[in-house]
Amino acid sequence: MAALGGRAGAALLRRGPLPGLGAGPRRYRYKEKWAATAPRIPPTRLALHHFDINYSLQLKELWPSVRAGLLCEQKYGALLNNFSPLDHVTQELELLNATDFVSEATKKVQSVAAAEEAGRGESSEGRMVMHAETMTQAEISPPLRASISSNIKCYTFPRGDITRFRPARPNTLGILDYYLMDAASLLPVLALNVQPDDFVLDLCAAPGGKTLALLQTGACGHLAANDISISRTKRLYQILHSYVPKEIRKTVSVTSCDGRDWERLEGGTFHKVLVDVPCTTDRHSVMEDDNNIFHKRRTKERQMLPMLQLQLLMAGILATRPGGELVYSTCSLSPLQNEHVIERALEIAETQFNIAIHVEDLSHFRALFRDTFSFFSDCRLGELVLPHLTANFGPMYFCKLCRMEE
Ligand code: SAM
Repeated sequence: MAALGGRAGAALLRRGPLPGLGAGPRRYRYKEKWAATAPRIPPTRLALHHFDINYSLQLKELWPSVRAGLLCEQKYGALLNNFSPLDHVTQELELLNATDFVSEATKKVQSVAAAEEAGRGESSEGRMVMHAETMTQAEISPPLRASISSNIKCYTFPRGDITRFRPARPNTLGILDYYLMDAASLLPVLALNVQPDDFVLDLCAAPGGKTLALLQTGACGHLAANDISISRTKRLYQILHSYVPKEIRKTVSVTSCDGRDWERLEGGTFHKVLVDVPCTTDRHSVMEDDNNIFHKRRTKERQMLPMLQLQLLMAGILATRPGGELVYSTCSLSPLQNEHVIERALEIAETQFNIAIHVEDLSHFRALFRDTFSFFSDCRLGELVLPHLTANFGPMYFCKLCRMEE
């Protein structure tokens, strides 16, 4: 990942002589002390320059629209809190024309399944078009039916509607009614498909949006939520206290370990593992100069991200029990942080640990959630939500791995 900096970067901001006018008379020239005095290029601008170079090659004609999405206000979803009474809040949201995109998808699955049932005995051609929105039999494969947790409810406004949600409100017990988050962040959790009594590990959990979503499934037998950052772990505790009653909090253990060491602590024990790694957080990187990974002094850290991501993914794989499943996710468009990390991990798991892994096909997510999100159709492995002005969620990359029985 080449960074723009030093002389090249400073040259971007320095004003040179106008074309064709030369350098001007000698007495007006000055020797520029650029190293000490040249204005620093803001990290947001470095990030955008970096993305222009790399993502225009990857996304080709899609890049200008994704770029516009990244630079505009992001859209939120309201993850309903099942631990708080829902009637009022659902009514309120539906009056505003928001819909629960998860239950909409579940309805789609059910109507296609019913059509499939009714269509038995028709010609195979007739069976292929199962739905008014031309969902095909291929898109409605059996894993799809099992992969949507109907307990998670997240309201979004329709495409093109940029209404904002009001802030969350507490009920009489002080529990908040919903959590505002990028709705695309729920896709990795939905893909994980937690089943009743599963032991679940959220390896990089803070500040806790996905941890909260995992708890909303109501299925976690035990949830281990870990994050290396103590300050971010405090935010995770706050979220748990604001949204989750005490008896459910007892099923969650929060730790602040380096996730790369997880194997030494508890290897091969979890049914489901979420590895939501630190990444270039592309949207943040082009919008906020604070805490920006494109800051010059963080160049090394940024360049080392794929290595850290690989190490965390390997730790996640080793923490998954044979027959268990893992979802890897980032909020970056970068193939170096997405597909490449997956490919390298599969190779290492096989050659160094003799662990066979199957990559689950999640392409049915595209069919299911296409009314809400814009998906990239050319990912080699996993799925990628692209920001788009009419559906400004993401970026969100997610890929599901199944650790084969030994
Ligand atoms: N899953 C979180 C959520 O949905 O709110 C967001 C996680 S954020 C993308 C990545 C997290 O990884 C950060 O909170 C960061 O502190 C944590 N992290 C970075 N290095 C880590 C490591 N070596 N072990 C565990 N966590 C790490």
